[in-house]
Amino acid sequence: MDAGSSGDVLSLAGRTALVTGAAGGIGEAVTRLLGGAGARVVGVDLPGARIEGCETLECDVGDAVEVERMFAGLRLSHHRLDVVVHAAGITRDGVLWKLDDTAWSEVMRVNLDSAFFLLRHAVPMMRKGRGGSVVLIASINGERGKFGQANYAASKAGLIGLARTAARETGSFGIRVNVVAPGLIDTPMTAGLTEQVKREALAQSALGRAGRPDDVARAVLFLASAMSDHITGQVLRVDGGQLIG
Ligand code: NAD
Repeated sequence: MDAGSSGDVLSLAGRTALVTGAAGGIGEAVTRLLGGAGARVVGVDLPGARIEGCETLECDVGDAVEVERMFAGLRLSHHRLDVVVHAAGITRDGVLWKLDDTAWSEVMRVNLDSAFFLLRHAVPMMRKGRGGSVVLIASINGERGKFGQANYAASKAGLIGLARTAARETGSFGIRVNVVAPGLIDTPMTAGLTEQVKREALAQSALGRAGRPDDVARAVLFLASAMSDHITGQVLRVDGGQLIG
């Protein structure tokens, strides 16, 4: 696509976007921003979660059968899919010698297995259209590791490997697959962190502040739009410089 004004290339008019974790801090900001850019947004979250301002679907994205069912419905109701943003995620922290099997498998299931389930249904749908963009929300902790987060860091590192492979496998269909890796962002997920943990994160940050959900959503819009037409298989950190290098 030729570059017009930045407004044109950021426009998602006529596009359909699926956003998981849409009731969460980052997911809510993403659905709002993509909707503001003109996309028809379908927000996905667990049953009972409150999603504002867009069409909603209830689905446990870590359940292969539920994801298959969701896509069967989506194919009938929307016919096309242009953007997928996977923001659903959980933490179950603990040092690895104290992590039980459930804390390990639940985090891998919700954070990583889900991305595989989504991609294997999304790719054929996007392939039928004019390609598309997938953005997986990982974390800087998937790159650097984090004390007490062996399960979470492994799941987020897995998303990076998955995205890079999917980018190679789907590029010829016009599908781009990228990762956004946030640092500390003020959301319900981090609300319960101790003051000491937050202070340590801020001390690492070159910009000296926690991120806001909109900081992440803007990076997602960039990667979802024609502004990033020649970018795939990349990890874009939105961390205020917490991890540089
Ligand atoms: P959040 O807790 O506010 O939102 C997460 C959302 O995912 C919730 O609405 C929750 O209901 C949903 N969810 C959980 N399990 C689900 C499932 N099985 N199926 C469908 N939906 C499910 O957290 P957030 O901070 O907005 O996190 C969004 C993403 O960003 C997550 O993947 C998280 O790991 C990642 N992230 C967050 C931070 C941060 O500091 N907040 C940093 C790095 C990465």
